[in-house]
Amino acid sequence: MIEFRNIHKTYDNGVQALNGINLKINKGEFVFLVGPSGAGKSTFIKLLLKEEEPSDGCILVDNEDITRFSRRKVPYLRRKISVVFQDFRLLEEKTLYENVAFAMQVVGASPKDIRRQVPMVLGMVGLSDRAKQYPHQLSGGEKQRVSIARAIVNRPIILIADEPTGNLDPETAWEVMKVLRHISRRGTTILMATHAKDIVDVMQQRVVALEKGRIVRDAQRGIYGYET
Ligand code: ADP
Ligand code: ADP
Repeated sequence: MIEFRNIHKTYDNGVQALNGINLKINKGEFVFLVGPSGAGKSTFIKLLLKEEEPSDGCILVDNEDITRFSRRKVPYLRRKISVVFQDFRLLEEKTLYENVAFAMQVVGASPKDIRRQVPMVLGMVGLSDRAKQYPHQLSGGEKQRVSIARAIVNRPIILIADEPTGNLDPETAWEVMKVLRHISRRGTTILMATHAKDIVDVMQQRVVALEKGRIVRDAQRGIYGYET
């Protein structure tokens, strides 16, 4: 589903953020990306989203080399790979329903599909009864669940979660993790960058650890492995 082949990334200022990354992630895998600050996690994600280009190597997504895609193909890529962020990034003047529906409108979905799909994903994240509320009426965990609903509503094959629990207390963080696990079990590949040691240690999923731009650990039922 995702393959990094000998990926190097050196920024214009000479910083070598990634240094020979080789990694394969299969369909439906749930992978934690861990490592100290500056290890290269954000760079890894930016390359996958084509927000940055590698200095060397190639990246396959769903068997296509995205490093050869032109700028024009980025929207096509972004329908395959969706992202949730630490800070939710919801539209405050729109209801939950409208936030999720908007993601479908921008890709030109029909009103019929929108009416069918939005309630379905809101149900999946456990927020059916809140559809008419606005983001400011929600807890942090609920906001993150809306942002997940929005991220999956167009059925991406890969979901990237960049510190999705970073702003949440432990209890609501687990609500979010349950939703992510559910999505993963339905076949969506999930890559989650995180510093949440407790979550990684309990989930027993694959853990890829980066340090100084290299993969230093890749374990099928891994642990976080750093002091926090
Ligand atoms: P992490 O997400 O693990 O904290 P990053 O990918 O953000 O790591 O950073 C890896 C290295 O690349 C760090 O040394 C960082 O300072 C550097 N870096 C990140 N982004 C840029 C950039 N746009 N320009 C120059 N250096 C950068
Ligand atoms: P339909 O039968 O309407 O075509 P599916 O059978 O594909 O829909 O979807 C069934 C279930 O999958 C629903 O509960 C829906 O919430 C969930 N679902 C929809 N999109 C995704 C996704 N990207 N990842 C995981 N589950 C999804």
